[in-house]
Amino acid sequence: MTACLFCRIRDGEIPSTKVYEDEHLLAFKDIYPKAPLHVLIVPRKHIATINDLEESDAELAGRLFLAAKKIAAEAGYGDGYRVLMNCGEKGGQVIFHLHLHLMAGFYDHEQDQ
Ligand code: 5GP
Ligand code: ZN
Repeated sequence: MTACLFCRIRDGEIPSTKVYEDEHLLAFKDIYPKAPLHVLIVPRKHIATINDLEESDAELAGRLFLAAKKIAAEAGYGDGYRVLMNCGEKGGQVIFHLHLHLMAGFYDHEQDQ
């Protein structure tokens, strides 16, 4: 059993509210949403941080953005949303399995983080 939270969510060991999945990615609602739509888009492959991406992951990394576009549009936020990825502890990353935050519906610039 892996200790990685998002691998465990991927494997169904920990429940999540999935909003999208395909052979490469899954996306589920953030448990502490910071916007009306706050989804985490996660590659199935365990990659800890942006710094662990290899050249061979380039297509997979691109797929995170294409999924964001699709999920935002399907949720009715295709006209405006925000994506964000933290890298490393000093970049605010808490879960060390690559994930793209997709947020929409409300954005308070004062709380930029
Ligand atoms: P990070 O700071 O690593 O970029 O973001 C991690 C995100 O994961 C946070 O926004 C946090 O709310 C979310 N999170 C932490 N634990 C869980 C969990 O068990 N389930 C879900 N769905 N999200 C989680
Ligand atoms: Zn993982």
